Amino acid sequence: MDGERSRNTPSLHHSNPSVMFAMSQETRKAALASELKQIAGVRVKMDEPLARYTSMKIGGPADYFIETENDTALARLLQVLHRHGERFCLLGNGSNVLIGDRGVRGAVIRLAGEFKKAQWHETGVTVQVNVGAAFQVTQLVRDAARRGYADLEFAEGIPGTVGGALYMNAGAYGSEFEKVVDHVDAMNSRGDPLHLSRAQMTLSYRDSHLPAGTVVTHVRMKLRKEESAQVSSKVREITRKRKGSQPSGFPNSGSMFRNPSGDFAGRLIEAAGLKGKRIGQAQISERHANFFVNHGGAKAEDVRRLMALAQSEVRDRFGVELVPEVKFFGDWDTI
Ligand SMILES: Cc1cc2nc3c(=O)[nH]c(=O)nc-3n(C[C@H](O)[C@H](O)[C@H](O)COP(=O)(O)OP(=O)(O)OC[C@H]3O[C@@H](n4cnc5c(N)ncnc54)[C@H](O)[C@@H]3O)c2cc1C
Repeated sequence: MDGERSRNTPSLHHSNPSVMFAMSQETRKAALASELKQIAGVRVKMDEPLARYTSMKIGGPADYFIETENDTALARLLQVLHRHGERFCLLGNGSNVLIGDRGVRGAVIRLAGEFKKAQWHETGVTVQVNVGAAFQVTQLVRDAARRGYADLEFAEGIPGTVGGALYMNAGAYGSEFEKVVDHVDAMNSRGDPLHLSRAQMTLSYRDSHLPAGTVVTHVRMKLRKEESAQVSSKVREITRKRKGSQPSGFPNSGSMFRNPSGDFAGRLIEAAGLKGKRIGQAQISERHANFFVNHGGAKAEDVRRLMALAQSEVRDRFGVELVPEVKFFGDWDTI
């Protein structure tokens, strides 16, 4: 019996360097996790599957999945990660990301608590709203409409957070976030505060050009006062347009590719004959060819292969290079 146990019980002493490395990695991971868990206002989950946090319902586990309640906790968290040399990325609603099946090494940070609040200030005909980065864009649009504040109607139906929308300079129907943003509060990867006026920022098509590692914490926007009924009617009009053109019912990430100058990625993919093309459980939508949908259990790798196919067909037929709009997170065999 003892002999049996000693054969089956793993020895603590290994001469195999890869086993030693794996053990030291695990020890390091546990030490960092225990330090992170001591920060007030921070919640840590280890090896947390990410599919449930993305609109496409795809994505393997994050080594550390960390929710952060306020500025103090976030600054402390970033300092600890920096001291440990641990990489991190920000996740909003996960509506514009494709996370690899093997997941993300390092930390994935989501803002919560205080970052879900908004404060409105009205002076004469101008309105300012200071919004936490975890606030929902659609909620903001509806709150603004109810109060009779105009210029955010374009964002109705964008299923992101304000932080993600600012980072992506999200836009639709002729407008984008750069038109309403006035000031951004953020932190750099060491947890130092950054205060950026609109003039200090460079926003362009689906890009905020923020330095790597910048965490957007609050966004101040300038809106206009208008009749509430008029703003609400524009919001309803946008909802109607979206319903008429975009696929519903299956998880997706919105537009997979940026529109090339003077054209539409969806038109090119459709003209290449790929509408409805399927790999595994991932499909190029039959409704809108720049939307790829998950029929249930699709792998990130299936989506990536569909994207590569769309890129090569569009390149071969039309000489146009499609550039992904979705952000790739995590470990991939090849990109
Ligand atoms: C059905 C559907 C319709 C869509 N329609 C549109 C549309 O009309 N127009 C449009 O532009 N997009 C659209 N999208 C894409 C997406 O909703 C937007 O890009 C949105 O702004 C992303 O926000 P998010 O919170 O989901 O960000 P995520 O997808 O979680 O992240 C996107 C990027 O932003 C970064 N990020 C997130 N939060 C922060 C932060 N606080 N600080 C720093 N970086 C951060 C992430 O690291 C990542 O690089 C659509 C998506 C879907 C699923």
